[in-house]
Amino acid sequence: MVFEGLSNKLQEAVRKLKGKGRVTEKDVKEMMREIKLALLEADVNFKVVKDFIAKVSERAVGQDVLESLTPGQQVIKIVHEELINLMGPGQSKLVFAPKPPTVYMMVGLQGSGKTTTSGKLANLLRKQGKKPLLVACDVYRPAAIKQLQVVGGQLGVDVFSMGDKTNPIDIAKAAIEHAKSKQYDLVIIDTAGRLHIDEALMDELKNIKESVRPTEILLVVDSMTGQDAVNVSETFNEKLGIDGVILTKLDGDTRGGAALSVKTVTGKPIKFIGMGEKLNDLEPFFPDRMASRILG
Ligand code: GDP
Repeated sequence: MVFEGLSNKLQEAVRKLKGKGRVTEKDVKEMMREIKLALLEADVNFKVVKDFIAKVSERAVGQDVLESLTPGQQVIKIVHEELINLMGPGQSKLVFAPKPPTVYMMVGLQGSGKTTTSGKLANLLRKQGKKPLLVACDVYRPAAIKQLQVVGGQLGVDVFSMGDKTNPIDIAKAAIEHAKSKQYDLVIIDTAGRLHIDEALMDELKNIKESVRPTEILLVVDSMTGQDAVNVSETFNEKLGIDGVILTKLDGDTRGGAALSVKTVTGKPIKFIGMGEKLNDLEPFFPDRMASRILG
């Protein structure tokens, strides 16, 4: 199960209140102290934790709650609702262009899972009846183009490439022209990543953004990097502007800090989660389902 440690601790914290016929402000405070520790241990951003605790506390100590017939359950309901609000509140769906092709620009650091996720996304959308085109714009890492071609080959999805001697802006533009003439519904551009965020990377991404005006810019981040994933999201959003986040490797993330922090810190929603290395392992992100999974 995802975030088992956090889940166990939160369940433990709320269990004490569950059956209580009378709940005092002190009970709520004690529970909130435990929840705070659990969230911090899960590597949730400090400010996010502070705001969350403040919101839940304010709502939970209200007289209508404490003097209700089932105060324990009311308090737990508030924790649940505020967990959903942290990550959502609602599901954030992909946006499609009114006139095809829709263009998704995939950005992220090297190793985050960008190329794999581009393939996974193409696979998911193809299952919904769309005709996607994958575009190889990472001209710096020699193996990147080949990797995308292998992924495309496995899926039976076409890959547009112009080798590594052409500028990525020209590749992206040519790919969109190609998509228009061949009636592709979607273009998924796999851009270059770097080990760290640097000016050269951001400038290139900004130039591609200006030239092709993508329908959405999707940032791929590795959830296993915890707070770093959140910092990377914040920086990409400030410097480039993103529309949503795809959180990868959630299958290996035992803590959950990134999943719980990204939306509040950046204001941008998590749209999908990567749940494994296979090309089927991409799921839409539902904040309510995640909250239920965590709270049990
Ligand atoms: P890129 O450098 O950002 O293009 O990253 P890659 O797509 O090459 O992925 C880096 C590694 O992460 C590969 O070994 C992928 O199989 C792996 N990976 C990507 N997404 C996931 C995921 O959701 N779960 C797991 N367990 N591994 C993933």
